[in-house]
Amino acid sequence: MLFDDRPKEDRKALFDREKEVDELKKSLKHPITVVTGIRRIGKTSVLKVSLKEIRRESLLLDARGLGPNYGRREFFNLLANSLRPSLPTLGEILKSVKGVRIAGLEIEFEWRKGGASLVELFDRLNERKLVIAIDEAQRLRGPFSEEVRSALAHAYDYDRDLSFILTGSEVGLLYDFLGIEDPNSPLYGRYLHEIRLERFDGQRSLEFLERGFEEAGVRVPRELLIRAVEELDGIPGWLTFFGNSYLAGREDLNSIKRMAVQLALNELRSLLSGRGPRFPLVLRAIAEGRGSWTEVKQYVEEREGRTVSSSVLQNVLETLEKMSLVKDYTFLDPIYKAASRFL
Ligand code: ADP
Ligand code: MG
Repeated sequence: MLFDDRPKEDRKALFDREKEVDELKKSLKHPITVVTGIRRIGKTSVLKVSLKEIRRESLLLDARGLGPNYGRREFFNLLANSLRPSLPTLGEILKSVKGVRIAGLEIEFEWRKGGASLVELFDRLNERKLVIAIDEAQRLRGPFSEEVRSALAHAYDYDRDLSFILTGSEVGLLYDFLGIEDPNSPLYGRYLHEIRLERFDGQRSLEFLERGFEEAGVRVPRELLIRAVEELDGIPGWLTFFGNSYLAGREDLNSIKRMAVQLALNELRSLLSGRGPRFPLVLRAIAEGRGSWTEVKQYVEEREGRTVSSSVLQNVLETLEKMSLVKDYTFLDPIYKAASRFL
């Protein structure tokens, strides 16, 4: 069903995105493919549909399962969980990796330094031509990132039959983690194949809603659909949210939008947690229409009652861009914009 709010796994349930799915499947000839786009644009859906259609074994890690300062233990736990479903086929090969123990349908890693090694694991999985997908891979940043990056670089050079797919909704942070432009990173200068998911245009968005309601056998005034498309700006996740809410009996667009904004507000708060009070202030400034360096600076200074150094403000703005929240003083998602006024 088109309005199912989980990531789609089947091409039949996916609207459009034929081109992207085909491109992703083809791009597995590259060592690393990066799937980028803002939240709710359909990255996980395109990833899952593609993995299902290829004739290769794959592993999917959801890096959102990692805390901000995750270490080896947490990382290997995540790995163990995502390997569990593959144990019937990969068990034999995993058994021979140092620091790995297989007990029935369970897998255990000796996570301490000197125990299991990611490099050795990749080398062995290479024999099975595995596709390793890491969803929201910018979450791999943190103290342990060096080790993950080195293992990726090793696999890039030596494990010719492994293919990695990394998705990221905080695109700049994902590239920071990979460090292809950072001479100190082991991945410096490597080629990454990027597939960027864009929002639907007005026409496609309208078709999306029409098809979803048709499937559900519900007639909705076209007028309302047009208004919804205007408000939700072609982001499939929000269109789905609208469709779902409407089918659940909530027929007023404004009230649906209020719920979406509340959801976005919670997400924003958690994205910004630990980043200091200037981040919400700058977002609020932009949400309230301050559209230039001078205007944002003035807004922040007036509210803080102190002058703000240019380098500090520059840093906040750059980070917000890397988080794919804003670009050139405009929000990438209208619901996040509306939510930012409540920060
Ligand atoms: P992302 O991983 O980019 O945040 P998801 O794949 O989780 O996005 O999609 C967000 C929501 O939108 C999900 O409910 C998903 O089912 C729906 N969705 C996204 N793209 C499509 C699409 N092309 N067709 C149907 N539903 C989609
Ligand atoms: Mg996702």
